[in-house]
Amino acid sequence: MTAATSLPGHAQVGIVGGGPAGLLLSQLLHAAGITSVVLEARSRAGLERLIRAGVLEQGTTDLLTEAGVGERLRREGAVHHGIELRYDGESHRIPLSMLTGGKGITLYAQHEVVKDLIAARIAAGGYLAFEATVTDLQPGGDGPAGITYTHAGKAATLSCDFIAGCDGFHGVARQAIPPAVRREFLHEYPYGWFGILVDAPPSSPELIYARHARGFALVSTRSATLQRMYFQCSPTEDAQGWRDGDIWRELEQRLATRSGWRPVEGPIVQRDVVSLRSFVCEPMQYGRLFLAGDAAHIVPPTGAKGLNLAAADVRTLAQALVAHYHEGRSDLLDSYSGRCLQRAWRAQRFSSWLTTLLHTDPTQPDFEARLQLADLQHLTSSKAAATALAENYVDLARH
Ligand SMILES: Cc1cc2nc3c(=O)[nH]c(=O)nc-3n(C[C@H](O)[C@H](O)[C@H](O)COP(=O)(O)OP(=O)(O)OC[C@H]3O[C@@H](n4cnc5c(N)ncnc54)[C@H](O)[C@@H]3O)c2cc1C
Repeated sequence: MTAATSLPGHAQVGIVGGGPAGLLLSQLLHAAGITSVVLEARSRAGLERLIRAGVLEQGTTDLLTEAGVGERLRREGAVHHGIELRYDGESHRIPLSMLTGGKGITLYAQHEVVKDLIAARIAAGGYLAFEATVTDLQPGGDGPAGITYTHAGKAATLSCDFIAGCDGFHGVARQAIPPAVRREFLHEYPYGWFGILVDAPPSSPELIYARHARGFALVSTRSATLQRMYFQCSPTEDAQGWRDGDIWRELEQRLATRSGWRPVEGPIVQRDVVSLRSFVCEPMQYGRLFLAGDAAHIVPPTGAKGLNLAAADVRTLAQALVAHYHEGRSDLLDSYSGRCLQRAWRAQRFSSWLTTLLHTDPTQPDFEARLQLADLQHLTSSKAAATALAENYVDLARH
């Protein structure tokens, strides 16, 4: 952890935001001998306890390993080779690994990835400032770029060759692209997710995605003792207004099978409601500013793509910066936005399809509901359809 007073006034790359995207970029650049400064608004403790994603694609696991933070992930992450689709009271397994030539997903919580990355940056003596809030960016043109921030009550400026805007959906980096150049695509879904964190052993050896007339439900896991479960709710639902018993009854109803399956109950240690949206900002670069991760795109969490897309952007950006500094090439920087947007739209398509397949909309005509069931029956009876789902689920962000 570095105090702002000891931060340099110039860095090759200034990174706005120390979430998974910003930290991973800093770590990859360090491995290539490129200096960076990470400015993060939250405290270290706040960042390390933020419970969010948990499903890592094969390509993300490989990238984290390549970045030198794969050791605990390999030891503690749980590799899953399939998922369950549940509808009409029956479970259907999609054998992900069998359908994709042996690839799987790894369940390892996002805050554990963040902890590993922070520890690695600090061990390497990297410039990483917590509680440093960026207030303004100068994306530059021919001259150097600049980042204005406050830390410990003082304002400071960092000049840099390039800025990486890794400050998430609510950050400031995207706003530095002039409105006349920037185009934003936003779709808000008419439902949200009620999420709980449960102190209990796993309810199932693999993730369960359930479609039920009462709405979607998901059984996921974070570790051998901590489980994450969700059910579809109104985006304005008050999480505190629900009694624990009512939460369990809702999950039981939506996940019920004819063979009597029930989730393993335990103390609910955290609860929250998230809204679901799809968002893309085009372009993802302007002058010397490059956006990565949630700063540029948001997907509904159903397809588990957000963190994986953030890691993929960062891999693309790190490769482009390495080509610039080590080989004097600008082609990869120039094509950064176009390449990332292609992947981001593929992920949007998949995430939106899976979301609308599994969620019920109170205003939905019965016709749409029948189509959902027909689609699910096709997925669970056709090897080709199941393979398309498996390929997108385990390895979409690599390409
Ligand atoms: C409920 C839920 C479940 C999810 N499940 C999955 C999943 O299973 N798999 C998956 O791949 N993805 C999932 N995601 C998405 C995933 O969590 C995000 O895509 C991921 O966090 C993106 O990382 P990021 O670094 O781009 O952005 P963020 O994690 O948002 O990090 C941005 C950082 O920038 C900082 N910041 C913001 N503004 C400033 C500023 N002005 N100055 C300095 N710092 C600033 C913030 O404090 C933050 O730490 C899920 C998300 C949610 C909400």
